[in-house]
Amino acid sequence: MSYNKSQKAFKEACEVIPGGVDSPVRAFSSVGGTPPFIDRGEGGYLIDIDGNRYIDFVQSWGPLILGHAHNEIEKAVISAVKKGLSFGAPTVGETKLAMHIVNMFEGIDRVRFVSSGTEAVMSAIRLARGYTKRDDFIKFTGCYHGHADSLLVQAGSGMATFGNPSSPGVPADLTKHTLLATYNNIQSVKKCFADSKEGVGAVVIEPIAGNMGLVPADEEFLVELRALCDEHGALLIFDEVMSGFRASLTGSQGISSVRADIITLGKVIGAGMPVGAFGASDNIMAQLSPEGPIYQAGTLSGNPVAMAAGLASLEMLKADPMIYTTLEKRAKRLMEGFQSTADKLDIPMVTEVRGSMFGFFFSKKAVKNFDDALENDSEFFGRFHGKMLEKGIYLACSSFETGFISTMTTDEMIEDAINSATESMTELMA
Ligand SMILES: *Cc1c(COP(=O)(O)O)cnc(C)c1O
Repeated sequence: MSYNKSQKAFKEACEVIPGGVDSPVRAFSSVGGTPPFIDRGEGGYLIDIDGNRYIDFVQSWGPLILGHAHNEIEKAVISAVKKGLSFGAPTVGETKLAMHIVNMFEGIDRVRFVSSGTEAVMSAIRLARGYTKRDDFIKFTGCYHGHADSLLVQAGSGMATFGNPSSPGVPADLTKHTLLATYNNIQSVKKCFADSKEGVGAVVIEPIAGNMGLVPADEEFLVELRALCDEHGALLIFDEVMSGFRASLTGSQGISSVRADIITLGKVIGAGMPVGAFGASDNIMAQLSPEGPIYQAGTLSGNPVAMAAGLASLEMLKADPMIYTTLEKRAKRLMEGFQSTADKLDIPMVTEVRGSMFGFFFSKKAVKNFDDALENDSEFFGRFHGKMLEKGIYLACSSFETGFISTMTTDEMIEDAINSATESMTELMA
């Protein structure tokens, strides 16, 4: 494969955009090489500006569960575009999409739309803090909830549970209310509750973590987490920006018995357009402006074109309940294929699948939390990623990301990817 045009485009981009990209992971820093610049998507394929064709397992980092440039979504978007791009006034598309979500998700009476997952979680945390009148909240190391200040935290020194900023530009004053716990470890959550002097207003978690690789929470852990929140009067926020409409039609609700107080959504809900949402029961959502005192707003929130894309996509997903069974079957086949080659070649590997989400680590032991994830061989992953790319398989460019199957990812593409993985691992071990 030649990457001449992408290399030139990347060089030009770097001159006017920091790192050449508008979101850091796109730069390929953790795997090396130049990111292909994309010309277009066709169903399950991605085509770059050099004309290289890839089977796409990234799908814009999750949103495109129906594949690229789906006919029905394209039609809905074009017809919305013809009426105007934005009005800053209510449209019925917002109500329609909200009704779908309210009807689908248990415990969600009302939702508000925003323009990104970051905004959804940021707003959900403000809502929880305003509702409980407590500033402290707990998050889990390795979970990603967008780039809002109070969420960019890393573990402090020693045994401290209070977070330190993980980026320059985030004042320590803004992260001192964020307590950090260990995923799948209930003792660490108890310690956070005990360490909080003013009381914890919220616990935010990805119930199916997808941002440290794919690391689902144990059911028993979620049950205990729910009980701890109830005991302490804290709201439980499930960040399902990635897992919503991905792990199952209703995300974690289709898999676990545990229900959150607030759910955040994004990615698939916009089908590739910028949309996020957060929802909760009536009494919580009534606290939101203009009904209540907690302020939250957005000029382009509930944008009519984005709503049209989301609606078209959700209606197709709801109409065919077998979609998720088929996607999970394919994702499992893909991971079994990778695993069996790795086993044959004595390459340590562990895999996970939840609906249309898959993840694999070059790792000896099962991954339950971020510390476990850090033990994966990311150097080997980087080389594997490069080999796969050369063979036309577009995988996420970091060992801490989740992979995705779309309805356009055919059985043949899965077999093709397995064969490429076998060749890649064999070449790397030669
Ligand atoms: C992607 C993601 C976000 C952030 O969404 P953006 O649209 O990138 O702002 C938040 N939470 C989770 C779980 C995500 O996967």
